[in-house]
Formats: sequence, structure tokens, C-alpha cells
Amino acid sequence: MPRVEKITSNIYIAGGDNSATEDAAVYLITDGTDSALIDSGTGRGTDMIIQNIKNTGIDPASIKLIFLTHCHYDHTGGASALREITSAKTVMHKLDASYVRDGDAETTAASWYGSIMPETPVDIMIKSDSEIFRIGELEITAWHTPGHSPGSIVLTMMSDGMKILFGQDVHGPIHPALKSDKEKYKHSLEFMMTLNADILCEGHYGVIRGKDHVRDFIKSFL
Ligand SMILES: [Zn+2]
Ligand SMILES: [Zn+2]
Repeated sequence: MPRVEKITSNIYIAGGDNSATEDAAVYLITDGTDSALIDSGTGRGTDMIIQNIKNTGIDPASIKLIFLTHCHYDHTGGASALREITSAKTVMHKLDASYVRDGDAETTAASWYGSIMPETPVDIMIKSDSEIFRIGELEITAWHTPGHSPGSIVLTMMSDGMKILFGQDVHGPIHPALKSDKEKYKHSLEFMMTLNADILCEGHYGVIRGKDHVRDFIKSFL
């Protein structure tokens, strides 16, 4: 069932946490003219995601960038299809890019889902600790937060006077097959707490509102 939920005047949740698709959350960002997606789900829910976007009144063709927060299949499996449908450019950190580009079913964990990882072009690679992107009037900052995977990122932006943090796999897990690094993960969690966000949009735990709740949620994994 298509289901889309408004989080702020610029942000919707357009997919994810559906037991049938095994998608991580997909967030839609828009200034009303230009748009972006954060993550793409596994690919099993692509039709539903596109329908959800249309249900907001936003034209999928307005999507300029698809941010991939890290290489894992529940976040990236649908990226090649969404890239084709929308003509958007994919953006991810260089340390996770090759796994997505080469369709590495082990490191992306596609094999955990009994699936293959489609070979997916990465159009823009993040190479530094932080990089700023513009979607129309909106400014989105990507921060390198390694640990869960080598090239994990989180993103921040302002909306309705609030600081929004997109931290898709704040909860981990840490696993050798995922090339995780526990020390870097802890360091990244501490960094996320310093961002002092008002709202955390998570990949598997939904939307957490309030500075205290966001901080407590991140802290619970330290
Ligand atoms: Zn992950
Ligand atoms: Zn995930």
C-alpha cells in the first residue's frame, strides 16, 4: 500500500520499514521545485516509492540527487532503478562506492537478503570529511561517519527552523562481513551527538523528535 508521511514542510518519508520489501527508510527532500532522495530501498518497493512521491504532488523528474548513506542493499538495491526513472545523480562516499558500482553482494549484504546487488553507477563521490550540496534553496551537508561501513555518511539540513539529521544506520550493526570498525563507529556516534539535531530521521527506527530524545537514542548505542 502506498504510504507517504510529511515530517516537515521540506521532508517526507516515502518508503521503508515494510516487511514485504525489507527496505530501509527512504526520505524525500524538496523545496517545492527541486528534490532529492535519501537512500533507495532494496528495489522491491520501487513502484511504491514512485507512487508515494507522486502522491505528495512532487514530480519524480524533479529529483536531482539520490544520496546513498552507505553501501548496504536495504539502502542501495533500488538506486539503479530510481536513477533511471528520475534521471537523478547518485551521491555516496568514495570508501563505499566500489561495492555498489561493482554489485558486491557480500559487502553490500545483498546475499543476507537472498538477493544480488545490481551494478549501480555512482555519479558523485564524496572524498572529504564533509561536503555541502544544494537542492534548490536547500543546503544539505554530508558528513563522513565511518564505523558501520567504511564510507557511511549522515546528512544534516535546516527545515522549519529545526536541524534535521538523517542517520540511516545509527544503530549499526557492527559486523566483520560489513567491514565495520567498532572504534570508528563509537567516534562517529559521539560526533553525531555534537550535531545537536532536533529531529533524527533513522533508517529502521523511524523519526525521533526532540533534541533530548535524539541524543538519548544515539547515546544508547555507545
Ligand atoms: Zn547498513
Ligand atoms: Zn540498514
